[in-house]
This record gives sequence, C-alpha cells and structure tokens, in this order.
Amino acid sequence: MRAHGKNPYHVCASCIHFEASKVNGHMKYYCKRLGYETKPDYVFNCWDPKKKVKDLMIKRSKEAEL
Ligand code: SF4
Repeated sequence: MRAHGKNPYHVCASCIHFEASKVNGHMKYYCKRLGYETKPDYVFNCWDPKKKVKDLMIKRSKEAEL
C-alpha cells in the first residue's frame, strides 16, 4: 500500500524492521519482521518507528502546538 495517512513519517523506511541492502547493484528492501520484500514508501499498520523518528514526531507535534 502506498497511500499516505496523516503521518508523513509512517512508511516502512522509518520502521525498526526495515532493512536496505544492495544486491548486484540494485537496492533491495526487506522487512525483517514479516520476512518479505517491501518498499521504503509502503505504509502498513505493523509499523514500529525507529527511536529517532519517534523523537522527531514528538518534536514536530510540540512545535505544532506553539
Ligand atoms: S512491513 Fe510493517 S514491520 Fe515491516 S518494515 Fe514495513 S511497517 Fe515495518
């Protein structure tokens, strides 16, 4: 699924289970949790953001409140 919800950070690329590697000169994107290929911009409910992404979301939401 590529459709974006309200949260622009909510994509596989910012998930703790996302892994990128180069195979024969091509980028491969893999979900370690589910064990299948994914894309950086895919959006799934199993998303678990990396700490730096969580911190950034908190920072942005606090800025938005100002
Ligand atoms: S498929 Fe789910 S668990 Fe896997 S990287 Fe994407 S959001 Fe994370």
